[in-house]
Amino acid sequence: MKKIILVRYGEIMLKGLNRSHFENKLVSNIKKAIQQYGNADVIRSQGRIYVEPLSDDYDFDAALSRLTKVFGIVSVSPVLKIESDLEEILNTSLAVAKDVVENKGFRTFKVETKRGNKNFPMQSPELSRKAGARILSNIPRLSVDVHNPDFILYIEVRESSYVYWEIIPGYGGMPVGTNGKAVLLLSGGIDSPVAGWMVSKRGVEIDAVHFYSYPYTSERAKEKVIDLAKILAQYCMHINLHIVPFTEIQLEINDKCPQDQGTILMRRAMMKISERIAKSTGAQALITGESIGQVASQTMESLVVTNAAVSMPVFRPLIGMDKNEVVEIARKIDTYETSILPYEDCCTVFVAKHPTTKPQLNKILLSEQRLDLDQLIEKAIANTEVLSISG
Ligand code: ATP
Ligand code: MG
Repeated sequence: MKKIILVRYGEIMLKGLNRSHFENKLVSNIKKAIQQYGNADVIRSQGRIYVEPLSDDYDFDAALSRLTKVFGIVSVSPVLKIESDLEEILNTSLAVAKDVVENKGFRTFKVETKRGNKNFPMQSPELSRKAGARILSNIPRLSVDVHNPDFILYIEVRESSYVYWEIIPGYGGMPVGTNGKAVLLLSGGIDSPVAGWMVSKRGVEIDAVHFYSYPYTSERAKEKVIDLAKILAQYCMHINLHIVPFTEIQLEINDKCPQDQGTILMRRAMMKISERIAKSTGAQALITGESIGQVASQTMESLVVTNAAVSMPVFRPLIGMDKNEVVEIARKIDTYETSILPYEDCCTVFVAKHPTTKPQLNKILLSEQRLDLDQLIEKAIANTEVLSISG
């Protein structure tokens, strides 16, 4: 008997070559995600993936929980793998049921059997009945409830057989690395990590760009963003975090342009720099955490003017979401507690009391001409620090 992890990746809509590309990428992402927990075989078979630890000291629970963060995985189960032998199946079913009753206090159950191996001499309903009877006669506290049981004991008879009860959901999506690459504008706030997570979930590789305004923003504000990138990297597999010094650009804008345009000019400079970085790293799109109407810089007019700063597509997955919907995801993916740490962001440092909510592109372009933006951007990029962050 071996304790292994069963990985389900659900239905795949892609066909032919794409399908095997998807599956191969998923297997290689799984191997990479769990290599730190010990030696294990990762085996693909009949639309499933099995992770089989090769040593006793394998960190099984850590691997299980890490796998729920690998995009493309629909669910995982800790499973006992045994020979397809009737007596062994019945004994193992009883052992699993005993364990669940002791640890969870469950009182009702049912058995569900799937028989993929037609050579096995007993049909599924009969095997379910026999396993149920074995459990009932040994655990008097338990009774059968076919409609609303506390747990379902699953038996799968294939070449080997598998017995389990627990199904832990993953996030689905597509394996990272199967859908190109994009650059996320990552602030220390709640929104942008969620935006990056949502796009990465569709299989997109992510690099991140963060603008900081030292000494107006502290070293700890930067650390916070690095921490956020580390949390995200568990899902995105790997993130190159580009940390761009932004103080000089902000001071110039503050110095030479109308106060109420400051935020929008800053946002455009961020977009331009991010686009440059994206092009140099082979990314094809930008991602921001903007949502319509959330703040002055995210009115329809502001978004239009910000968008016009670049020619690359900008993905804004939160565009139609309310803050509480974003917070819900941030909590679920574990970025929320870090995002709400109270370190100042560069946007809050030079912010005007009454920023324009209806910027006009021609006026903004005129203001931009007062800046030596090309040279400032060049310098910021030259002084950018790149951190390689693995999940
Ligand atoms: P967030 O919660 O993501 O910080 P926000 O609601 O505070 O968003 P803004 O400050 O207007 O909104 O920023 C809008 C978007 O611009 C952010 O979601 C992020 O993608 C990008 N952005 C803002 N500040 C920075 C920064 N310092 N570095 C990188 N990107 C930034
Ligand atoms: Mg912000």
